Amino acid sequence: MASADTGAPYDVAIAGGGFTGRALALALASLAPKGFGIALVDAEKPHAGPPPNGAPPKQDARALALSAATKNLLSVLGVWPALEGGAQPINSIEITDSPLHAELRPHFLGFEDVLNADEPGAYLVEYGPLYRALEDAVAQSGAIDIFAPDTVADYAADAFSVTAKLASGGALTARLLVAADGRNSKLRERAGIKCVSWSYPQVGIVTTVAHTRPHHGRAVQHFLPAGPFAMLPLTGNRSSIVWTEEKERGAEIMALDEAGFIAELARRFGAKLGELKLAGPRQSFPLALQIARAFIADRLALIGDAAHVVHPLAGQGLNIGMRDVAALAEVIVEDTRLGLDVGSPVGLERYQRWRRFDSAFSAAVMDGLNRLFSNDAAPLRVLRDLGLGLVDRAPAVKRFLVREAAGITGSVPRLLMGERL
Ligand SMILES: Cc1cc2nc3c(=O)[nH]c(=O)nc-3n(C[C@H](O)[C@H](O)[C@H](O)COP(=O)(O)OP(=O)(O)OC[C@H]3O[C@@H](n4cnc5c(N)ncnc54)[C@H](O)[C@@H]3O)c2cc1C
Repeated sequence: MASADTGAPYDVAIAGGGFTGRALALALASLAPKGFGIALVDAEKPHAGPPPNGAPPKQDARALALSAATKNLLSVLGVWPALEGGAQPINSIEITDSPLHAELRPHFLGFEDVLNADEPGAYLVEYGPLYRALEDAVAQSGAIDIFAPDTVADYAADAFSVTAKLASGGALTARLLVAADGRNSKLRERAGIKCVSWSYPQVGIVTTVAHTRPHHGRAVQHFLPAGPFAMLPLTGNRSSIVWTEEKERGAEIMALDEAGFIAELARRFGAKLGELKLAGPRQSFPLALQIARAFIADRLALIGDAAHVVHPLAGQGLNIGMRDVAALAEVIVEDTRLGLDVGSPVGLERYQRWRRFDSAFSAAVMDGLNRLFSNDAAPLRVLRDLGLGLVDRAPAVKRFLVREAAGITGSVPRLLMGERL
């Protein structure tokens, strides 16, 4: 761990060592010109290194659906080889909203989730391995000064630099401070940036199940009146569950003993994949939509959940955050090569133009889908099933949707296309 107040000012200081903060640190370390100074401050105790020195890895029941674009970014950063063995390709997606008691659950919309013969549109990766792969790569990079466990408690910007005050008492000076400090971002609050936000009356229950029959890489999204129930394929005969429930009912389900919890789960999961058993902890997450009204302030840029939080129904939250990482890295690297100040308003404006509308649009789409489907009104059910049925018969629309979810449409930062800058 580095100590504050000792060295020359950094070019970029990053507050938050979650997925997005670490990915940005790595992108800058491997792509910015030699000598570019990077500091990473994280509240978490470092786990990197073999036991007994390394602390136990961070526990989180989530698995993440990573788009092909996020995979491209992780490949350029050299992280993907560490993940590949445990990454389950999603080969197809089925969407249904049939009632739970239906004997058969016909799908209303089915996709082959492939971009071309050997490129799936998305992969499922478990939280722990993804966190560890990024943490190890940052620790081994040699070009990133890590301050952990510590937090940025406050900051102050002037015309030339920004000073981040650490909770431990030290301070760091940089040209640009990046807030990658998650949905309750302290830095966003200190910058006076307000959010458009609302909480959903739902929670997301997450767990892992083992089943006796293979899933063949098929992801199933079952829209139920309380919210979507997703069965996402993991390696082996295992699936990750993201189960949206109305808040009170969610708390009751979380309080059930194991047999009761499995019984509720099995009712929704169906019998197609055989017998079920729990293969991981269960965890419940509050769900919200939140978009920062600005992604930048003086010498400050917001990325990841600090900038936007979306409903997890399409597994896009981190993928949108990785778009921020790739766009900000591209702006910073290009400006540095031109000898420009990386914290200047011109570069920051370019980043904000690139990312804010795209993020707000994605959040609105997730919100609309959640509202459209978390609803059992008969006329709405008929209309949406008709809509899904039409899309199901339109291969060109399906191809577009697959490319959209893979993150390779629109103004795509080069790192997401797998190009080095
Ligand atoms: C149920 C559920 C399922 C999901 N599934 C998917 C999915 O399938 N695919 C997908 O793309 N996304 C998914 N997401 C979204 C995804 O988990 C998040 O978007 C992602 O984890 C956010 O990463 P982050 O790095 O921006 O923030 P975080 O992971 O919140 O990291 C923030 C970091 O900052 C640190 N920190 C906080 N304050 C400070 C401070 N002041 N100074 C320094 N450090 C600080 C914290 O300790 C933490 O390490 C899901 C979310 C939920 C809830």
